Amino acid sequence: MNDLTDDISKNLTAVKNKIAAAAASVSRNPETVSLVAVSKVFGADRIRPAIDAGQRLFGENRVQEAEEKWPALREVCPETVLHLIGPLQRNKVKKAVQLFDVIETVDRERLARALADEMGQAGKSVGCFIQVNTGAEPQKAGILPPDADDFIKLCRDTYDLPLRGLMCIPPIDEEPSLHFALLAKIAERNGLKGLSMGMSSDFETAIAFGATHVRVGTAVFGPRPKPVP
Ligand SMILES: *Cc1c(COP(=O)(O)O)cnc(C)c1O
Repeated sequence: MNDLTDDISKNLTAVKNKIAAAAASVSRNPETVSLVAVSKVFGADRIRPAIDAGQRLFGENRVQEAEEKWPALREVCPETVLHLIGPLQRNKVKKAVQLFDVIETVDRERLARALADEMGQAGKSVGCFIQVNTGAEPQKAGILPPDADDFIKLCRDTYDLPLRGLMCIPPIDEEPSLHFALLAKIAERNGLKGLSMGMSSDFETAIAFGATHVRVGTAVFGPRPKPVP
C-alpha cells in the first residue's frame, strides 16, 4: 500500500466516523446518510484507492471530465455510482444521461424537458435532484426559493422526472445552517425525501438538518490543486 492509498483510505474512515457521530447526535441512523466522494480534478491515481477502500458513490462536476475519467474506472468497478453535481448545459444532456446515475443540478424548465426527452429516447432512468439557489446568489445555479414549489410540481407532473430530492450549495460567507433548514423545509412540504447538502467544511451540520447525501471532496482526497490561470 503506498502513502496516497493509505491517506485516502484513512480519510474515508475518518469522514465516515464523523458522519456516524453526527447522525447519532441527532438520533438518526447513519445508514440514512450517503457519502458522495467528490473526485473532481483528481485522476485515477486518487480515485482507485477510494474504490479499493470500498467507496462506491462519487460526484463529478463536469460532464466532459467525467467522460474522460469514468468509463475506464467503471470497467474496473462496475458497481460505482456517479452523481453529476455541477451545472448541466442542454447540449451535454445526452452525454450526461449516458454517464451519470443521478443528476443533482436540475434547475430550469428547458433542462427538465431535455432530460425527460433524453431519458425517454435512451430508455434509461436517471435520478434527479433539483438544485435550489437558497442564497439567491446571481452567479450561482439553482431555482430561486420562491419558485421552487412550482418547479418541483412541473418536474413531477409535466415531465415525470424521477425526483429524488433537493440540493443546495450555501453562500460561502453565510451560516450554512439557515440554508440547510430552508432546503429541508421546501423538501418536506413537497414530499421529497432526498437532501443533498453539506461539503467538507459543514457536512456534520448538514446531517443535523437532515442531509441524506453529503458531498465531500477535500476531506477525502486532500486539497485540490488551484487551476492554472
Ligand atoms: C467541489 C464540490 C463539493 C466538495 O467540496 P469540498 O469542500 O472539497 O468538500 C461539493 N459540492 C459541489 C457542488 C462541489 O462542486
